[in-house]
Amino acid sequence: MTLALYNTLSRRVEPFTPLAPPRVTLYTCGPTVWNYAHIGNFRTFLFEDLLRRYLVYSGYDAFHIMNLTDVDDRTIKAAAAAGKRLDEHTAPFVQAFFEDRDYLRIQPAHAYPRATTSVPAMVRLVERLLERGVAYKGEDGSIYFAIAKFATYGRLSRLDTRELKLGARVASDEYAKDDPRDFALWKKAEPADERVGAAWDAPFGRGRPGWHLECSAMSLEQIGQCCRTETLDIHAGGVDLIFPHHEDEIAQSEAATGQPFARYWLHGEFLNVRGTKMSKRFGNFLTARDLREQGVDAAAVRLLFWQTHYRKALDFTDEALAAAAVGVKRLGEFYERVKRETGNGNRHGRLAELAAKFETDFRSALDDDLNAPRACAALFQLVHDGNAALDAGASGAAAAIEVLDRAMGVLDILPTSKALDPALRSWVEERIAARDKARKAKDFKEADRIRAELLAKGVEIEDTPSGTKWRLV
Ligand SMILES: [Zn+2]
Repeated sequence: MTLALYNTLSRRVEPFTPLAPPRVTLYTCGPTVWNYAHIGNFRTFLFEDLLRRYLVYSGYDAFHIMNLTDVDDRTIKAAAAAGKRLDEHTAPFVQAFFEDRDYLRIQPAHAYPRATTSVPAMVRLVERLLERGVAYKGEDGSIYFAIAKFATYGRLSRLDTRELKLGARVASDEYAKDDPRDFALWKKAEPADERVGAAWDAPFGRGRPGWHLECSAMSLEQIGQCCRTETLDIHAGGVDLIFPHHEDEIAQSEAATGQPFARYWLHGEFLNVRGTKMSKRFGNFLTARDLREQGVDAAAVRLLFWQTHYRKALDFTDEALAAAAVGVKRLGEFYERVKRETGNGNRHGRLAELAAKFETDFRSALDDDLNAPRACAALFQLVHDGNAALDAGASGAAAAIEVLDRAMGVLDILPTSKALDPALRSWVEERIAARDKARKAKDFKEADRIRAELLAKGVEIEDTPSGTKWRLV
């Protein structure tokens, strides 16, 4: 069996064959850096991480591009509300996105083109569309894409062409599914854009790019540079992007190049945050940093997400997260146990057989449209059967650990070693210093409070003649 993926374009699971194997060009729509990314956004980014890691596991050479939307309707509005220039407003959110990505163990993309530094490519794309007669200047001074000139408009989202409001226009980046109209490629600069520094000169008038144009221009520029092609192997994003965003990306790109824009379109489903405790604390807006600040192990978040197929909606609850944390702990204990047994260099035996069977199941699950829930079920079957085999003195650990390491290269759900977590270490050291200060000032109440604070995070301290020592309990 080989990898098969559900292609939104055909509404079918299709065998995956890239244009020029082993290379796979993968473009994923990145965050709009007007604010912190929501954990729902990260569900999409994690599904894309699984996809990319499994492509590599399967022997492909993936080139992953993720854009950063640092100019659009929302970023301009947010910058204006904060009284800042666009780049001042977005810079900390770009930084936060990378920190959250690293916390969640998402592998960095090979390229992160930014909209604000890719404007020349966008201007060139608009010029191409104007030359081909599929774009026009509206009386408001903005440049629009004429959907009537692109015969296959609506193919991805399966819009009934009779619904198209031909000649009617929409200027905003986001618009309703039942409202397909000519959309803005380039928006004439308004005083509000100029105030935050979101306007550029172009031969067809000073203005700023529309959100949809940005992704077309950045992806085509990147794959042109890296791979001399105008067709992506895979384009992925959340289901909410199918219309209008991805539909418009196809229209702009294909009308300009005359080539298919992307061969496989993959879309991840929504995440619902319904945990009563969580929703009380955070409302419906939960960021990756909220989880990190609560000391949640990223491995548990990853396992929780893998346990629901990427094309099914997932409810994020405290209970589900706690259950995933238990699973991660069990897996970590099993992994350490197998590792301890590898000293004998034993490659054969019951444990090796179980691991080989697991790897077959793991592969057939993920080959089947990235069925991670089934892959995880096979993994925990191995944990169960492997523990029993080890209890009975089975050998084969050296082979088993290699299988586990390969699988972890895809799932990456071994528990984070807390002692090695630099954020925890620096926090503990800072707290111990604060307690020392309190003790020197004879504020024993505060010193006791800090001791309790540390204990609440699982850190036990002991005062010795050579200073305060700490350990995790
Ligand atoms: Zn996009």
